[in-house]
Amino acid sequence: MDREQFMKRCYELAIRAGKKGFDTFGAVLVHNGEILEEAENTADWSKGIFGHAEFNLVHQCANRYPDAVLKESTLYTSCAPCERCLCAIASLGVENVVFGVSYEAFSQLTPGDAVPVDREGLLQKLGIRMKLTGPVLEEEGMHVFEWWGGEYRPLEELIAEMAEVKAKNRNQAGLPQEEENHGPLSDH
Ligand SMILES: [Zn+2]
Repeated sequence: MDREQFMKRCYELAIRAGKKGFDTFGAVLVHNGEILEEAENTADWSKGIFGHAEFNLVHQCANRYPDAVLKESTLYTSCAPCERCLCAIASLGVENVVFGVSYEAFSQLTPGDAVPVDREGLLQKLGIRMKLTGPVLEEEGMHVFEWWGGEYRPLEELIAEMAEVKAKNRNQAGLPQEEENHGPLSDH
């Protein structure tokens, strides 16, 4: 199997999670061209369960594979990992991550915009080697989100809806000047 096939598997897992009512994310751990473990998102916001696919994958792999194997493995994920998952992946000792959908593309579906951060560089400063590669099959990966939460909705509709939320947030942020100065950093 090649990179694109592993990513397609992540997308299958993500859609499967979505059809179960979860968020549409999936991840696999690959070693020597073989999938060792697979995981789906199992987040449950009502119970405060984090359940990200990468996080679940890390927990499945922890203490199950020797460090040498993990170091040589690549974690494939349907979407660029959040910071909490990145730390989890780093703690597992996996140094290679391949993502389908980029932070930028995914931010079309979130209220906030993607923050350009040199994640590899930050981790490197902590002595952690991490290579983030992607996007891979991004357009296909974006369509995976059509199954978000179990009910099919076209991608254009999801993006348009979020564009309205973003516009509203921007308007609110631009409202009264004094509001902005009451943040936690206002004393600095
Ligand atoms: Zn995450």
